[in-house]
Amino acid sequence: MQPEAPLRLRLDGAALTDNWRALARASGSAQCGAAVKANGYGLGAREVATRLSAAGCRDFFVANWAEALAIADVAPAVGVLHGVRAADMAAALAAPAHLRPVLVSAEQVARWRDAGGGACDVMVDTGMNRLGLSAEEATSGLLDGLNMVTLLSHLACADEEHPLNARQQRAFADVAGRVKAQRYSLSNSAGILLGADYHFDVTRPGLALYGGIPCPAAEGMIRQVVTPEVQVLQRRVVQPGQSVGYNATFTADREIEAAVLNLGYADGYLRGFSGGHGRALAGEAVLPVLGRVSMDLLIVDCSAAPELAEGDWLAIDYALPTAAAASGLSQYELLTGLGARYERVWR
Ligand SMILES: *Cc1c(COP(=O)(O)O)cnc(C)c1O
Repeated sequence: MQPEAPLRLRLDGAALTDNWRALARASGSAQCGAAVKANGYGLGAREVATRLSAAGCRDFFVANWAEALAIADVAPAVGVLHGVRAADMAAALAAPAHLRPVLVSAEQVARWRDAGGGACDVMVDTGMNRLGLSAEEATSGLLDGLNMVTLLSHLACADEEHPLNARQQRAFADVAGRVKAQRYSLSNSAGILLGADYHFDVTRPGLALYGGIPCPAAEGMIRQVVTPEVQVLQRRVVQPGQSVGYNATFTADREIEAAVLNLGYADGYLRGFSGGHGRALAGEAVLPVLGRVSMDLLIVDCSAAPELAEGDWLAIDYALPTAAAASGLSQYELLTGLGARYERVWR
């Protein structure tokens, strides 16, 4: 028998689907898909895909074939954003047809065509210089005869006001006018909020589905989905002049009531939350982190929660925009770092 986990993620399924619906509305006439790579940004890709499929989402995007196969039975269509390496070909050709590679280079196009691969998507690079064919390659005839479902590109700076956004939009519209595909797709979460010119036929939000706020326009529209909850392992009193945790970075100037929590950097709660940058919450009471975050443990000042006892559960303040600012991590890192030791509990 497995013991109960001492840490869990409380996952708000209604907030997840509401966020998707809000992004679908904001996508106008475009179909709203979902990026579920990296295990659904740490939440659990199968649970996310199951819930969003039920809400009406049809297009899911993952990084690699293992991720695609893991959700094949719960997703109507999956685009594999890294396409097909030579080592992927056997799995890709054997996979059901609703799993499609997003071909990202002339080599991959040739590899897929030569192997008699079926329906596929194609990525074109419009200024990020990450994955994708150049506009010249895409319009050279290289793609002729390919059974291309979706032509994609990806925005580098959608979460800020940047001249590259409009340049990429124009470059993609230009390629879309010259390359025949069933559908065209440009925008991630923040791109959706740049307006109708950025929507094309399919949008691909990730971060905002999971409660991330990529830009001010998402405030008030997106709800928090993820809250870590951790158990108190021990209470102790720290005497004045005594230090707390590794490297003694915090020294008490008075008697401090402390609680030791079952959470650490191995769970993705990284050391940027040390020294008061992170906080646990006991109802309204705020319990700041004392000293350094350890691998598996965290010490907080629990003076504000005098009744707190061993075995109690505390929420961790994981409001993504403020937690990111406090810790120096990105909202993406705060989600994708969520480790395997959490029990994931959907409500
Ligand atoms: C990760 C990713 C997305 C989702 O981006 P968010 O900023 O998380 O909304 C969309 N498209 C591609 C190609 C991606 O790699």
